[in-house]
Amino acid sequence: MAFDVHKIRTDFPILHREVNGHPLVYLDNAATSQKPQQVIDSIVDYYSNYNANIHRGVHSLSQEATNAYEAARKKIQLHFNSKHNHEILFTSGTTHGINLVANGFSSLLKSGDEIIVSAMEHHSNIVPWQMLCEHTGAVLKVIPMNEEGTLILSAYDKLLSQKTKLVFVNHISNALGTINPIKTIIEKAHAFGAAVLIDGAQSCSHIKPDLQELDVDFYVTSAHKMCGPTGVGILYGKEVWLNKLPPYQGGGEMIKEVTFEKTTYAELPHKFEAGTPNICGGIAFGAAIDYLNTIGFDAIEAYEKELLNYATQQLLAIEGLKIYGTGSAKTSVISFNIEGIHPYDIGTIVDKLGIAVRTGHHCAQPIMDFYKIPGTVRASFAFYNTMEEVDKLVEAVTKAKKMLT
Ligand SMILES: *Cc1c(COP(=O)(O)O)cnc(C)c1O
Repeated sequence: MAFDVHKIRTDFPILHREVNGHPLVYLDNAATSQKPQQVIDSIVDYYSNYNANIHRGVHSLSQEATNAYEAARKKIQLHFNSKHNHEILFTSGTTHGINLVANGFSSLLKSGDEIIVSAMEHHSNIVPWQMLCEHTGAVLKVIPMNEEGTLILSAYDKLLSQKTKLVFVNHISNALGTINPIKTIIEKAHAFGAAVLIDGAQSCSHIKPDLQELDVDFYVTSAHKMCGPTGVGILYGKEVWLNKLPPYQGGGEMIKEVTFEKTTYAELPHKFEAGTPNICGGIAFGAAIDYLNTIGFDAIEAYEKELLNYATQQLLAIEGLKIYGTGSAKTSVISFNIEGIHPYDIGTIVDKLGIAVRTGHHCAQPIMDFYKIPGTVRASFAFYNTMEEVDKLVEAVTKAKKMLT
């Protein structure tokens, strides 16, 4: 199927609205993606036709809902290629998944153990580990990055030792767009017997990972970054690890038997899925995966590369504009500043022209500290953005620069 961006755009109702009297140009995809009609329809269908609680009822509606929810888990398993279906746990999103793992490790770590994170993590991938270190006496180490925004792997080699128990790295930095060499990072950690968690929140909309090929121990992501709804995501964990970790929350659904003397826990994945989940969200997540796969990740990657190259070239033509994150392995995220202008002011002016970009530290303050800047303007592109939209952004930024200097 040929990649036809104009046809794809007809699937996204929101892309046809106006903002401040201008057609919306949505370039904040790294914060959340827009939703195609197919995903919206699956949500409407669930609540209109078969809303019921799952795994419990003998009645037909409950069975329909259970089947649809479990079919979504199957789709997700096939998409990410995990070995077992029960290694895919539904969560409320990336942050929840990371906290679940951090909480589990608090009973496995002891004082003096070490955890390694990267210098370009999202706050949700820093704070839970700091909390874990406080509880256990484990020590947090950081893989540094260079000016280009690329991790320094020789420094990573020096941090690794027998004391290393866990390594946490994002696949793609949401603030810089850098694609990290996760396969190498995983192999090096495994040589020391350490487990690795990959944060796939930023990569899942651009790259289809193969979890078995990566041999990763844990992988987390959020549906809303890949055309699905908010409030749902997954934690993948290798079976051996999920069996080792204690349950995260107690409640319904996660038990086998409960007496006041002792409770035994349910089998995977239910051991980690206490309470009524986001049933509709899980089903719509499955619909989003179907949608993305009909377009195809090879086509998405190739087209986004064109968008990135064109936008980079056009933006750099603006005098005084500096891009942060200039490594060769990069997705369609451009973080930039113009000398002497606060990013917030640029963001405000381009919004008046209907263009949605993000300004600020992008939940990655350590990166901003590294570059000694308060924040950046971030334009993040998805497969439904167009070259004409890049032109509009460049025109708007040029105009903002004139107004502000
Ligand atoms: C968005 C994002 C998160 C947080 O995801 P939530 O859906 O807010 O839990 C974590 N890491 C990265 C790299 C992200 O882009």
